[in-house]
Amino acid sequence: MTGKRKSIWVFGDYRNYYQNRVTLQLLSKAVDLSRLLDAEVCAVVVGHDLEEWIMEYTAHGADRILAVDHPSLTSYSTEHYLILMEKLVRERDPDILLIGATDFGREFAPRLAKRLHTGLSADCVGLDLTPDGLLVQIAPSFGGNMLAEIVTEKHRPQMATVRPGTFREIPHNNERTAVVERLPLPAQLPPARVRQIQYERAVQREHTIENANVIVCGGRGLGNKNNFRKLDDLAKLLGGDVGATRPVVYAGWAGHDVLIGQAGKHIKPKILFSFGISGAIQHTAGLGEADFIVAVNKNPQATMMRMADVAVVADAADWLNHLVKELRRRIRE
Ligand SMILES: Cc1cc2nc3c(=O)[nH]c(=O)nc-3n(C[C@H](O)[C@H](O)[C@H](O)COP(=O)(O)OP(=O)(O)OC[C@H]3O[C@@H](n4cnc5c(N)ncnc54)[C@H](O)[C@@H]3O)c2cc1C
Repeated sequence: MTGKRKSIWVFGDYRNYYQNRVTLQLLSKAVDLSRLLDAEVCAVVVGHDLEEWIMEYTAHGADRILAVDHPSLTSYSTEHYLILMEKLVRERDPDILLIGATDFGREFAPRLAKRLHTGLSADCVGLDLTPDGLLVQIAPSFGGNMLAEIVTEKHRPQMATVRPGTFREIPHNNERTAVVERLPLPAQLPPARVRQIQYERAVQREHTIENANVIVCGGRGLGNKNNFRKLDDLAKLLGGDVGATRPVVYAGWAGHDVLIGQAGKHIKPKILFSFGISGAIQHTAGLGEADFIVAVNKNPQATMMRMADVAVVADAADWLNHLVKELRRRIRE
């Protein structure tokens, strides 16, 4: 007797470049997991005029695409997307369902998990497998002070939302092919209770932290939020951007949008100032292309100090204050 082949689903969140990147990152991880589980990677894409995404997800690792394409799905509706996904999951019974931890994913995934009576690990920063093939969902807990490894033993699918930047997408490969199933809209779709009146795309900022030439980045060694906020002054003086490490983001000194590293942004500044940062691999993974690094740390042995072109052994907050004062003085002169 041959059992059903396992499948790993990735929900296609394609509505802007950033969200689409997360989907591609999840496809890449799904491909890794599929090799270990002998599973199929399936991308599910819902909306209208989906050809571009069907080709994109094929080129980035999907073996199968489930596409529900209809003009009535042009604009996102939580209600309709949930009905469609619940139906598809119930019919096809995937083992794993991955969704990007974008604003959309954070709204959509818990509702879907509730309908499917399964668990959901939110905001995962890693995925792995147990020796017997269960998905290990690695998620911060207790305010980010601990990482929990969660498995969903009894219910299916094993569901997780995953933070953008956790995995690297595999390069686009035009040669790849996938089975594309174009599925009809179910007849029983009720009228949506929320009606979209107008849709306006947010203006794309040309300047982003990813393409900033100067970045001043702070870590736990800055001691508190007030000290960290001093980085704003330095960034203004140097015409740069502020970045942060994960403990800083978890402590609420800075937003997730300025997190630098494996789970955040990958930067390539011409000059990087690093204040009170140890240089953990998950952080330095995002600094691969910094041209010149100035690090300030009270521990000369810190990895960040060894990576730096200029390593200053000092109290990070003191030195930051001093630098801001000195720059202001020189500007006034
Ligand atoms: C799956 C996973 C993904 C992760 N992703 C990321 C990521 O994307 N980005 C990220 O940053 N981290 C990430 N992390 C966390 C990472 O492992 C480190 O914990 C984090 O980078 C450490 O941040 P930090 O350097 O600010 O803090 P710490 O490691 O605590 O280092 C603080 C540094 O400050 C110095 N210091 C202390 N006091 C002073 C002082 N008064 N003056 C000067 N120096 C001082 C210390 O000597 C030390 O070197 C991830 C972890 C995991 C498990």
